[in-house]
Amino acid sequence: MDHALNYRVHSFGCKVNTYDTGLLQKNLGAAGFQSSAEDGGPRIHVLNTCAVTAEATKEAVRLIRRLKARDPFCTVVVTGCAAQVDTGSFENLPGADLVVANSHKGQLPELLSRYFKKTLDGRVFKSNIFRKEDLEAGGGVEKHHTRTFLKIQDGCNSFCTYCVIPFARGKSRSIPVMDLVARVRELEVQGAREIVLTGVHIGDYEDDTQPGRKLALEDLLEHLLAKTAVPRFRLSSLEPVEVTERLLDLYQNPRMCPHFHMSIQSANTEVLAKMKRKYTQEDVKNSLLRIRERVPGAFVGMDVIVGFPTESEEQFLDTVACLRSLPWTRLHVFPYSERPGTRAAAYEESVYPHERARRAAVLRDMSLRRHEGEARTQIGSLKKVLVLNQASKGGESLSRDYWPVAIPEAEAFLDHWRGQEIEVRVTGYRDAGKKGQDGLLVAEVLA
Ligand code: SF4
Repeated sequence: MDHALNYRVHSFGCKVNTYDTGLLQKNLGAAGFQSSAEDGGPRIHVLNTCAVTAEATKEAVRLIRRLKARDPFCTVVVTGCAAQVDTGSFENLPGADLVVANSHKGQLPELLSRYFKKTLDGRVFKSNIFRKEDLEAGGGVEKHHTRTFLKIQDGCNSFCTYCVIPFARGKSRSIPVMDLVARVRELEVQGAREIVLTGVHIGDYEDDTQPGRKLALEDLLEHLLAKTAVPRFRLSSLEPVEVTERLLDLYQNPRMCPHFHMSIQSANTEVLAKMKRKYTQEDVKNSLLRIRERVPGAFVGMDVIVGFPTESEEQFLDTVACLRSLPWTRLHVFPYSERPGTRAAAYEESVYPHERARRAAVLRDMSLRRHEGEARTQIGSLKKVLVLNQASKGGESLSRDYWPVAIPEAEAFLDHWRGQEIEVRVTGYRDAGKKGQDGLLVAEVLA
């Protein structure tokens, strides 16, 4: 076996990148490259980078330096969102042998083969991402495929003023419903028990391949529920106005996991307008109250940005007060990060970094207390949990309503149950034991 072709993909960032990594592994394998787990350690490192914050790009640069320090003769390929929008950070970086932006990601195996055959001109491959039309299906199988991320859509047309993603991934494009139904059936045969439908902006999902009809996210879900037997579907993030009554109707089907990840970013109407978000504080309130009414007990996580340029103390306190009054389970809090080429990065007003950090601490503290409070209300309840191949958030299993669940008494049996859904009774709450980290539920198996 030719060790020179051993590779490893280092995946950064979001679920969409995790999916892309699965596709990269599949295509590299098809081109004759071997995944490093097989033998001898990788000679090729492919970095599937993230660009959502400045720190994400720096993390990739640090890894390149570490890899080259450890093995100066290894080959490093930089791809992903940072390769598209922060190309300059890698173009002149000695350790980056090849830079393949998202515009050329699908050609990476072929470019790498030509690199080793010394028939490749140049080392940076990038073009206008907004010309990208294709969206490769066929991914979604990773090592722990009991739960599988399936990309249904990529790119975005919204251009929120703080966001670099449209510049990294191009305009919104969706995989047709029928291709996704076929793909889900394949994943089901391969043992997937939960499919997480993901994308950059899944609320933008639109299949216009059927004559005279544009199919939306709700149509896709109806087809998947009707034409496959996968026991659990989970959606990745949605905006408040994308939580429609039709979508909430679909959540009456128990195969739709009662879990919402809401991308709200702020709960103050002026700040939302400066972010160029398409909703107001009223919409945030309505969506959370509708979820609680139509899907009682659902787990609701929310993304919030603090310290956005122009966000005053009053506007921040308005967001805090609004969130305190609403039903949700956990917050993911991000201090604002300037991104190249975004409109907000050019705003004159800005919030000092220490003040961004202080505001983030306020909301993270609120989230920790809310999460623990909600967790304790689960004690005594019965749940269906999927026993995972790899523990997630400290729990060997994951409930439909997105609680990580430890089953200490049954540890000896867990290997037997991996990939299966079992019924448990929640008996307690376990603190994470690490500052700033959410705890998990403890349960016993129902005989
Ligand atoms: S909706 Fe806004 S925040 Fe989300 S990916 Fe699109 S531009 Fe970025």
